[in-house]
Amino acid sequence: MATPETVNQLEPAPDKSYVNDKDRYLISDLCTELEEYLDTQQVAEVYRAYLFGAQAHEGQKRVSGEPYIYHPVAVARIMCKMRMDYKSIIAALLHDVIEDTPTLKEQLAEKFGDEVAELVDGVSKLTHLDFVSKAEEQAENFRKMMLAMVKDIRVIIIKLADRLHNMRTLDAMRPDKRRRIARETMDIYAPIANRLGIYNMRHELLDLSIKNAYPMRYKALTNACKQAVGYRKEVFETIKSAIKKRLKAVNIEARVKHRRKNIHSIYYKMKEKKISFKELKDVYGVRILTNSVDDCYRVLGVMHNLYKPIPGKFKDYLAIPKANGYQSLHTSLFGPHGIPIEVQIRTKAMDRFAKSGIAAHWLYKKGEESSTESAQTRALEWLKGLLEMQQRAGSSLEFLENVKVDLFPDEIYVFTPKGNIMKLPRGATVVDFAYAVHTDIGNTCVAARIDHRMSPLSSHLHNGQQVEIITSKNSRPHPSWLNYVVTAKARTNIRHFLKSLQEAEAISLGQRLLQQALVQLKGKDYQPDEQQLVHVLEKYGLEDYDCLLSEIGLGNRTATLVAKALVDEQGQVEEDVREFDFSGKPLPIKGTEGLVVSYANCCKPVPGDDIVAHFSQGRGLVVHRLNCKNLHDPQHSNRKQEVQWSEHVEGEFQAALRIQVENQRGALARLASVIADMSSNIENVNQSEKDGLISTTDFVITVRDRTHLARIMKKLRALPVVNKILRI
Ligand code: MN
Repeated sequence: MATPETVNQLEPAPDKSYVNDKDRYLISDLCTELEEYLDTQQVAEVYRAYLFGAQAHEGQKRVSGEPYIYHPVAVARIMCKMRMDYKSIIAALLHDVIEDTPTLKEQLAEKFGDEVAELVDGVSKLTHLDFVSKAEEQAENFRKMMLAMVKDIRVIIIKLADRLHNMRTLDAMRPDKRRRIARETMDIYAPIANRLGIYNMRHELLDLSIKNAYPMRYKALTNACKQAVGYRKEVFETIKSAIKKRLKAVNIEARVKHRRKNIHSIYYKMKEKKISFKELKDVYGVRILTNSVDDCYRVLGVMHNLYKPIPGKFKDYLAIPKANGYQSLHTSLFGPHGIPIEVQIRTKAMDRFAKSGIAAHWLYKKGEESSTESAQTRALEWLKGLLEMQQRAGSSLEFLENVKVDLFPDEIYVFTPKGNIMKLPRGATVVDFAYAVHTDIGNTCVAARIDHRMSPLSSHLHNGQQVEIITSKNSRPHPSWLNYVVTAKARTNIRHFLKSLQEAEAISLGQRLLQQALVQLKGKDYQPDEQQLVHVLEKYGLEDYDCLLSEIGLGNRTATLVAKALVDEQGQVEEDVREFDFSGKPLPIKGTEGLVVSYANCCKPVPGDDIVAHFSQGRGLVVHRLNCKNLHDPQHSNRKQEVQWSEHVEGEFQAALRIQVENQRGALARLASVIADMSSNIENVNQSEKDGLISTTDFVITVRDRTHLARIMKKLRALPVVNKILRI
C-alpha cells in the first residue's frame, strides 16, 4: 500500500532510542516565533492545541523513536515560516489526530471551532488516498484529484508541510521505503508545490527526494558543489562587491545575495544534457532584490554593462510570468576569468511570492484583523489574475489546463478497482462511469460498489471514491438512465441501444398482436395474401412488413384494424371497428416484452392481478389492474387490448404499500429488514402522515408476483409495531 502517510506509521522503535533532545525544536520555540506576527491570544490558542495534540498522541512514537508530537510541532513550524494564519497552525499541530488517535472531528469542532475541524478532516481525507500506478498520466490525475478534493487551499499547504517534514526525517526508514516515498514526493507533492508557486518547498522536496532515492549520487553532488564553492570563494566575493559598488554608483537601492543552485536542478541538468559536473557551468549565481519593477530593468542594464551577457540566456518573466505566477528577470553573464554567473533580478514582493507562492496570501501583519476567508478569496483572485495574465500573454495553454482545472474543478477523479484513475465531469453517476470504462459494461451494469458499499446506478460520484461496477449478462440500458447521465458517451450509447432494442421489441409484439387478430377473424393458420399485404403497406405509406408490425407494437396502429384491412378484399375498412373487443383470446404478458410493454404507475399491477391494457401512442402497451380508475379515462376507450399474465412471468414488479405504524424508535428499520429478508427491495419510501402516536408511510417495493406480495404483507402485519397495512 502506498499511502502518502506510511511515513507516519507507528512501527516498533529501533534499538537506538532518540537521544538528541537538546537541539529539539520545542513548542516554546514555536510560540516565540509565532509572537512575531500573531496576537498573544492567538498564540495561547496554539499552545492549547499543542496540549490537546500531545495528550492525544501520548505514548505514540515515530519510527525514529522520538515522541510522535515532535512531528506535528515541526509541521507547524514549517507553516509558521510561511507566516500562515493561526488556524492553519492549530490544524497543523492537530493534523494527525483524526487519523492516528481516537479523536473525532466533532470533538475538534467543539474544542477549536469548525474551521480547524474542517482543515484537519481535509488533511485526513487526503491521507486516505492511495496512489498505486506509476504512469505519468496517472500521477497527473492523482495530483488533480488531491487538489479537487480540498475546499480550502490551506489543507494542501498543511499536507505539503507534513510531507516536507516526513521527507526531512526519512533517515529512520528502511531503504526501500525511503525510495518509494521519495518517488511519490517527486511525482505528486513537488509538482503540486510547483503548481501553487511554493518554490521553497518544491526545491527542498526535490532535493530530499534525490537524497533518498539516489543517496550515493546525492552525496557526490553535494561534495562537488562544496569543493567548487571553496575554489572560487574569493572570485565570488569579488563579483558580489563589484555589483554592489556599481549599483551604489547609479543610486539603485538593492540587496545582492549569493545563490547556490539546487541539487535537484544540477542533477536533472546533468542527466538531461548528459554532461559531467565539471562541464556544468552555471552552478552559482546571484540574486538581486529591488524595490520596484522599474528598478529591475535598470539593474539589468547595469549588469549587462558590468559583464558581458551570454547570448540567448536572457528571460523576461516580469512581462510574461511563469505559469505559476513566478516573476523575475533571468540572465547569464561572463564574469571574471570567464566564470559564468547566473543572475536573477526581481522585487522583494516577487521574491516573497517565489518562496511561498499561494501561501503568501495568508501572510499576516501583527494586529491586522484576521480573516482567513478573505485570504482564501485573495488567493483565488490571485490565481484568476494569473489566468487572465496568461490569456493576454497568449502563452502557456498548459497552465490554463492545469491550474484552472485544479482549483476551479469541473471534473472529478475516481478510482477503478485496480487503482487506475478515471476522469469524469462533475455530477457524473455510476452509469457514466460504467460507460467510461467500456460500452459493454455500461450496457449491462446493474449496480455499483462505491468504496465497497452497494449503491444504485443513479448515485453521484465524488472525488477519490473507488467504484466497482456490477454487471449482469441479461441486463440492459433503461430509458430512465437518460434522466441522470451527464456524459455524451453514456447518453449516445443508451439512446442507440434503446432505439435498436425498441424496434426489435415492437416488431415482435406487433407480430403477436396481428397474429391474434387474424386468428380471431379467420381462424388458425391463416396467412394473408402477398398482394393484399403490398396493397395495405402502400395504403399506409409503409416501407415493409416489419414497419407495419412495429407500428402495431408501438400502438400507432390497431392490430384488429390492420388485420381487417389484410383480410378485406378491397382493403377498405370502416374506422368504427376500432373497438374494445373482449371476445377473443387475451394477449399473454410474459414480462420479457421489454420497452413496448410497461406497467401503469397508478395501480402497479403484479403477476396474479387481473389486468387489462391500453395502447399509448409510440410507447406500446400499458398494463393496468382491471379495477384501476384511470382505465375509465375516455382517451383510452378505443385503444384497449385484452391481456392476461402468461403462465411463467419473468422479472420483478413494483407494488405500493401503505403501512400504519406506531411511532417507535427503529420502527422503520424493522419494516425495512423484514422486507429485505423476504428478498424484496425498497424502491421508494414516503412518509405521508404523522401524529404523536401513529405515522403512515408509503413503500414502493419489488415483488415477483401476487403470492410473494401477500407473503410479505403477512410478515409485516405480524410485526407488533404495525397497525394497518394495505396495498394502494
Ligand atoms: Mn503527519
